[in-house]
Amino acid sequence: MENLTELLVELIRRASTDLPSDVEGALRAARDREDPGSAAASTLTVILENVALARAHSRPICQDTGTPIFYVRFPAGMSIRELQAQMEAAIAEATRRAYLRPNAVDSITGRNSGNNLGIGFPTFYWEEGEDEILDVALLLKGGGSENVSAQYSLPDESLHAGRDLEGVRRVVLAAVQKAQGEGCAPGFLGICIGGDRGTGYSWAKKQLLRPLDDVNPVPELAALEERLLRECNELGIGPMGFGGKTTILGVKIGAAHRLPASFFVTVAYMCWACRRARMTVRGGEVTYS
Ligand code: SF4
Repeated sequence: MENLTELLVELIRRASTDLPSDVEGALRAARDREDPGSAAASTLTVILENVALARAHSRPICQDTGTPIFYVRFPAGMSIRELQAQMEAAIAEATRRAYLRPNAVDSITGRNSGNNLGIGFPTFYWEEGEDEILDVALLLKGGGSENVSAQYSLPDESLHAGRDLEGVRRVVLAAVQKAQGEGCAPGFLGICIGGDRGTGYSWAKKQLLRPLDDVNPVPELAALEERLLRECNELGIGPMGFGGKTTILGVKIGAAHRLPASFFVTVAYMCWACRRARMTVRGGEVTYS
């Protein structure tokens, strides 16, 4: 198997030092919507200046370069063990080059591994594809935003949330209201309806890979995504909680099967630094997006 380590370092560099164009475009549009001179407009202006500087100097967009989460679709016959070893080597090298801050801390001793490698760190999801394409998507998930992610077990009487889409709507709004801009608003919501407590979070985070203009193929969920985006922004929490018209920039919902006994709704909150990047290897040709 070809050594892909250097190509993967480039994927990490792109993810950490540049925002996807749709995310940056959403931040620009938000800045233009806010009242000139407001705290919201100033915050978004500073964020956009920071994004441009990071891109120009190949430096991390944020001091917290997040948990690296890899979603890999690989051709039949490719060794996951070898691929993972190359990805781990790429993570260590990207840390050495300061594209990533050393973020992996032993939960018992508090010791930092120094190279972003550790138990369950980074995170990998593997899927065997039906073609000869290797597709690697990388999400860098900031810790502050992870802290305000939330999971609800419905029904939730305190929120008058039953086991239906209205209940889903109520708990998502409650999660955003509770965050009050912490987790570095304006943010993005990846939501999973169903699953169990573990798969709920992994499916919710996977929704964050969807481009902002991706329309949900399930009409009820597409309508709920639009409605929640509008209603989250009507809360008036604003960038970093300073007030304003922009609290959330995108809402993406997936649904997984669940046990009859459970109805979980999981909200993966992603900060404005929604760092995702993709590398596709097809017939020896490599593309990044
Ligand atoms: S939540 Fe996001 S923007 Fe805020 S500090 Fe963490 S990575 Fe940076």
